[in-house]
This record gives sequence, structure tokens and C-alpha cells, in this order.
Amino acid sequence: MQAEPTFVVQIHDASSLHFDFRLEVNGVLKSWAVPKGPSRDPRERRLAMPTEDHPLSYAAFEGVIAPGQYGAGAVIVWAEGTYTTEEPSMADALARGHASFHLRGRKLRGAYALTRTRRGADREAWLLVRKREGRQPPASKRRGVDPGRARSVLTHRTLRQVAVESRESGP
Ligand code: MN
Repeated sequence: MQAEPTFVVQIHDASSLHFDFRLEVNGVLKSWAVPKGPSRDPRERRLAMPTEDHPLSYAAFEGVIAPGQYGAGAVIVWAEGTYTTEEPSMADALARGHASFHLRGRKLRGAYALTRTRRGADREAWLLVRKREGRQPPASKRRGVDPGRARSVLTHRTLRQVAVESRESGP
């Protein structure tokens, strides 16, 4: 039996702090930069700007992208897990501009959808939205994620700790 595809959410302290939401589709990580990160609250629609596909191995990347490189800054793996979908083909659904899927991760669970709202080579925009399900999480679970305080699901480190440790072990 084939393993379920993975998802990962990284927090990236680049020129602007953002979340990178990535879904495994056909052997690559389809990727969106989500400035405010995914919300657990179905009432909140989160802007998601598509970015380049990344290799599957990038799902485990945590560290500092060197100054001068594209995306320079610290990265932590905030959430990870697998997802299921009833889309016959995620690739086709995304190409058409709408895909629903169910995340199963330690920090992020539930039904979500990505919907393209604007087309254009350099200005394409999507929305990432939690779908309403029978029972919603209690209000206390709906708090937003503070990216500066958030900790890696892999190493429990904050962005700041990753940045400091990288300096200490650097050249
Ligand atoms: Mn990024």
C-alpha cells in the first residue's frame, strides 16, 4: 500500500516573516507562502502566494539560509504530517484552481481547501481556508500562531534559537 503524501509547514524569517505551506504532489512539494500561516478557524481566510516547487527532501530542512541567498534567514519546521484527499488527482485539482484535503499532523489537523483567487504569471493568489466540519475545536484552540514564539516540531527550537545556533556553529 502506498504511503499517504506528506505536508509540512515551515516558518521562515526572510525579508518578511512568513509560513511556507507545502503539500507532496507527484513527487514534489507544491508550495505557497502564507504570510499569516494556516488558521484553525474556518472564519479566517489566509492569503497564500504560490512559490516554486521544492524537492521532497526540503520537508525536513531546518536551519539558516545564508545571507545573500534567495530567502536568506532562519527556517523551522513548525508542523508536519500526512494528508488525504478525495480529489481523483491533486495535480489536476490544483491546476484547475481548487483542491480539498484533510491534514493529519500533530499540530495541524482537519479539512482545508486551497482556492485560486487571482491568476497571472507573477501575481497569482490563493486562499487557504479551514473547512467547516461537524464539530469545531474549542475557542482556546483557535488562537493564532505567534511565529516568533512557535517551536519546531522536529527539535522544539524557536527561529531565534536556530539563528543563534547557526551563528555559533558557523564558519
Ligand atoms: Mn519561504
